[in-house]
Amino acid sequence: MASGGLRLALVGDRAQFILGTGVDDARAVDVERHTDGGLPSDPMQCLARWSDVRRAWTTVDGAAGTPVRLEDLSCPVPVPRQVFAIGRNYPEHAREMGAALPSQPLAFTKFPSSLNHPAGDIELAGDTVDYEAEVVLVVGDGGRDIPVGDAWNRLAGICVGQDVSDRALQYSGTPPQYSLGKSRRGFSVVGPWVADAADLASRDDLQIACTVNGELRQRSGTSSMVFPVEQIVAYLSSICELYPGDLIYTGSPPGVGHGMRPQRYLRPGDVIETTIDGVGTIRNRCR
Ligand code: ZN
Repeated sequence: MASGGLRLALVGDRAQFILGTGVDDARAVDVERHTDGGLPSDPMQCLARWSDVRRAWTTVDGAAGTPVRLEDLSCPVPVPRQVFAIGRNYPEHAREMGAALPSQPLAFTKFPSSLNHPAGDIELAGDTVDYEAEVVLVVGDGGRDIPVGDAWNRLAGICVGQDVSDRALQYSGTPPQYSLGKSRRGFSVVGPWVADAADLASRDDLQIACTVNGELRQRSGTSSMVFPVEQIVAYLSSICELYPGDLIYTGSPPGVGHGMRPQRYLRPGDVIETTIDGVGTIRNRCR
């Protein structure tokens, strides 16, 4: 039996179990072949059958798999029906942006055509493009009117995410245009895999960090969120039905380039590394 938590990745267009301790020694086992067709190769269908995926994971031989590199991995949730994002969800980030704390979750969307691979390049559109490291929730069962106490059970897991933002576009109008400013090509990085929510050691205080060219820019725990994961899921599902495979960006901790004096936006050649301890790392080069 495989040790460690269930992680589901996408290689090419096929869902894969991931073994190994990290991205440097990751090995992949094809989900459909391992289950003799019992589970599909389509990751979106796997997310809709997450309890079956969990059961199949317990039968994977811990020594199995073929090596994969970060560059081999595709976006693990390639066609979500909905992508939600929450703004100003860390007090220190709201402060650095000169913005008030919201009284309820401040939701916008990142349109799905902006999704990118875990090691995908980010095409800089102008000279005010910024990084935002975020925990991304991946909906499993989903539903409507999810109680706070049941929220984690309705999620499949989490991914590491980058909410890349074109600040000039974001703040170009009155009121500001969050959704389009964060939906340019490749601006929604998700990966390197979906880590099972049930296996997360301290899921209410996940440690997230972001470096640019090796320099630490962001480091926070999710316990400082204004609206924790369970409240976000309960609030969104009180308005919108959540479908299997939907994504929810949960907000950026402080340390973004826009909040610095002087401001420090991304430049061609910059390499952004975003990590959630115990989950994984995504790495993206700007061009
Ligand atoms: Zn954000």
